[in-house]
Amino acid sequence: MHDFAVVGCGPPGARFARRAAEEGYDVVAFEKGRVGEPLACSGHVSTDIWEFTGPDARDELFQNRIRGARFHVAGAAENGSDGRSSSADERAREGGPQFDADDGYPFYKDETVSNVIDRVGLDRHLADLARDAGADVRERHTVTGVDEHEDRVELTVKSPEGTETVAAKMVAGADGPRSRVRDELGLAEPGELLHGVLGFDPEPDGQDFVDVHLSAPRFFAWRIPRGDAGVEYGLAAPPGDGVRDLFEELQSGYGVELENRCSGAIPVGPPETVTSRRGFLLGDAAAQTKPFTGGGILYGMTAADHAVEQIDPDWPPTLADYERAWRDDLSQEIRLGHLLRRAYSLPEPVQRLGLGALSGEIGVHMDRPTSLFSREQLTAWLTS
Ligand SMILES: Cc1cc2nc3c(=O)[nH]c(=O)nc-3n(C[C@H](O)[C@H](O)[C@H](O)COP(=O)(O)OP(=O)(O)OC[C@H]3O[C@@H](n4cnc5c(N)ncnc54)[C@H](O)[C@@H]3O)c2cc1C
Repeated sequence: MHDFAVVGCGPPGARFARRAAEEGYDVVAFEKGRVGEPLACSGHVSTDIWEFTGPDARDELFQNRIRGARFHVAGAAENGSDGRSSSADERAREGGPQFDADDGYPFYKDETVSNVIDRVGLDRHLADLARDAGADVRERHTVTGVDEHEDRVELTVKSPEGTETVAAKMVAGADGPRSRVRDELGLAEPGELLHGVLGFDPEPDGQDFVDVHLSAPRFFAWRIPRGDAGVEYGLAAPPGDGVRDLFEELQSGYGVELENRCSGAIPVGPPETVTSRRGFLLGDAAAQTKPFTGGGILYGMTAADHAVEQIDPDWPPTLADYERAWRDDLSQEIRLGHLLRRAYSLPEPVQRLGLGALSGEIGVHMDRPTSLFSREQLTAWLTS
């Protein structure tokens, strides 16, 4: 019997598999497809990412450095309604892209805030680290059932070789926003699932600002320069709110033709409990994401580290320690993230006033909204 069976080999699942194997546990991890595929993520992360990777990862995965974000109250197609400079409207009339570096309300640091990375490569890198640590990572293995017993869990696993039953002392559900493990363990769903869409323009762009458009209902649209990998355009909103039409508007507003479109779900709002008798959730399955950006790579891996530190597969009461530890670390950030997100739905004049008053140099850490109240941030505001 394995100590841990991990379902899903995204960043949190691979991170947990690696760290648990390093602790000497017997770990098996199942990934239903090929690790990293299909892509449904921007791979825009704080520079903390490099604390979770191997020594040469940056050379392999880095695409671009980002110093700040320009916020736009409206979308690219809504001419003149967002307080943009008149030069933007002129460009629009001339048929070119409506936004450039002069538009929007900038929030920035003097240093690198975040990196844009190859997300497929990241997943493969993290899975390789798990394998190197001794975890048995099996691709093209889909978990279709989980049965919890007093002393073990039994997983039904389908692969090209057939169907097998695998026993472990504990199961980690790291199988994403529509987690099968979560359903099998009878755990509640996240508060909300947003619908995110992406598309790519292959034209290289190495500028160091992302653009954020508060044009989607209750969330936003974005433009991320990815260096030689081109430019990514994306949008997320509650499902059914015309996400695809809004995405078309974003594309036509910028005057670009996008390729390699993809989409995915973004869970927001963790359920009350992410642990059961012999199971626990990690990453998007547990909605360990930032409510104001949807980013989950770093929160999920942070939670995976708490799981390794707290959970003893021979002693199920330690699951409560995991539940406490990750919430102690991230709950306040998530609560504040919900509050920040509310600003996306404020009336436009209020948004303009707020963005105008707060824009400029910032001292905030992009994963830690509580750093809004840091000495660094207060100094930035008082001196701007
Ligand atoms: C459009 C979009 C853009 C995003 N941009 C960013 C960003 O820029 N930065 C950021 O930090 N986050 C971003 N995110 C969020 C980020 O992608 C997730 O938070 C992150 O992928 C969570 O990892 P995960 O492993 O929990 O889930 P996933 O990445 O969904 O991985 C789950 C894995 O489990 C596997 N799996 C599922 N079911 C089974 C099964 N039954 N058996 C075996 N394997 C299974 C899947 O194949 C998958 O590999 C974005 C999300 C979307 C949708």
